[in-house]
Amino acid sequence: MSRDLSRLRQQIYELQREHARLVQRMLKSREMVKGSVITLARRCGKPGCKCNRGEKHKSKYLSISDGGKTRMIYLKPEMEMKAGEAAERYRRFRSARARLVKIQKEVLNLFNQLEDHQREELNGKRDKKKSKG
Ligand SMILES: [Zn+2]
Repeated sequence: MSRDLSRLRQQIYELQREHARLVQRMLKSREMVKGSVITLARRCGKPGCKCNRGEKHKSKYLSISDGGKTRMIYLKPEMEMKAGEAAERYRRFRSARARLVKIQKEVLNLFNQLEDHQREELNGKRDKKKSKG
């Protein structure tokens, strides 16, 4: 029983540490964009241009999904890297946020187990349930 309790406490403690690290990281987040950088190839329409012979002009765009619609924003070459990094920051932010939610659920679950153990102790029950995991 007491070993289970110390294991539960240890798990909660470790999750709290991970939680704190995630919060620190998320607080440091900088500008981000919900989208991705893509390359589109097109013809310019000028007669005699190489794009009429199959060598299309490639340009980078920022593709942003917004309420079911997709917007394409042309990226000047000097903006490509900045946009890509902002999109990557958004993905990491959302991933950290999802982990945060998961940790909170896990911690609550562990506290429920802790409560069960300690209520049993106080009630002086002998038929201890085996805890899972
Ligand atoms: Zn062309």
